[in-house]
Amino acid sequence: MSEKILVYGHKNPDTDSICSAISMAYLKNHIDSDNEYVARAASELNPETEYVLERFGVAKPEVVEDISAESTEENPIKVVLVDHNEQAQCVNGIETAKIIEVVDHHKLGTMATLEPITFTTRPVGCTSTLVYGMFKEFGVVPPKEIAGMMCSAIVSDSMLFKSPTCTPLDEKCAREIAEIAGVDLSDLWNGMLKASLNLDGKTDSDIFYQDYKQFKGASVAFGAGQILAANAEDVKMLKDRMLAYLPTALADEKLDFVCLMITDVSADSTELIYEGKDAEAILEKAFGVKSDNQGLYLEGVVSRKKQLIPPIMAVIG
Ligand code: MN
Ligand code: MN
Repeated sequence: MSEKILVYGHKNPDTDSICSAISMAYLKNHIDSDNEYVARAASELNPETEYVLERFGVAKPEVVEDISAESTEENPIKVVLVDHNEQAQCVNGIETAKIIEVVDHHKLGTMATLEPITFTTRPVGCTSTLVYGMFKEFGVVPPKEIAGMMCSAIVSDSMLFKSPTCTPLDEKCAREIAEIAGVDLSDLWNGMLKASLNLDGKTDSDIFYQDYKQFKGASVAFGAGQILAANAEDVKMLKDRMLAYLPTALADEKLDFVCLMITDVSADSTELIYEGKDAEAILEKAFGVKSDNQGLYLEGVVSRKKQLIPPIMAVIG
């Protein structure tokens, strides 16, 4: 009997989480015809991801924020996780489900399983690089639109190969998949940037949560978002606007502090703004930079995963 298996990326999904879920579900359906793999979104998509789905003509995955209605302790639904492995980032209700496989490129979190599972991880710049490796392993050539999904994910996570998280393997895979997708990568990145920089009709909360994650140290829990800005002028505008919103975000999140990276793609730098208990002292210590008007100017910092989180973790333990 065919069983439905869900493929989920993390909450507040980025392009990698959505596109890797779609590509992984496609591959799995191809190699495991006994079951039906369904890509899902753990929460609403961001504009960059909406853009790439439209560009490659791929249907938007269903947004289902809580799976507990589909899963019980006696009859847990099976889930494949892509682009995350920490419970705090999983779709709500994950504790009722049975995780059967993980494909991820993040640090290992704290999830325990009852049985052995397939766990694919390498310190590369994007989950789709690993998913593409699996296509090759199984001798499956992705169709054009699925190739488009995977190269969009790599271009997004690597900021067109400029992020320090990007490895030679990511770039090699993206260029190879771009051939299959028939897409020019610079043109794709420009389209994605344009979609994510467009603030028309966006609320403060839309902007703050566009790419947001929670993190936990030994005694401090915090949230960190990231948004892109086209130039220094946009950084200033976004800083003023979002500083006014951070107290609301902090109250809603009930964490020790929240921070937001406003990353200037023209200068490869980040203005880090923050709100909350001891945030200023923690962040000044982490980056060795003095705060100016509730913001730290971080030259050369563009990656949350590689350049923002590790120094903060080193301070909060
Ligand atoms: Mn991600
Ligand atoms: Mn990723």
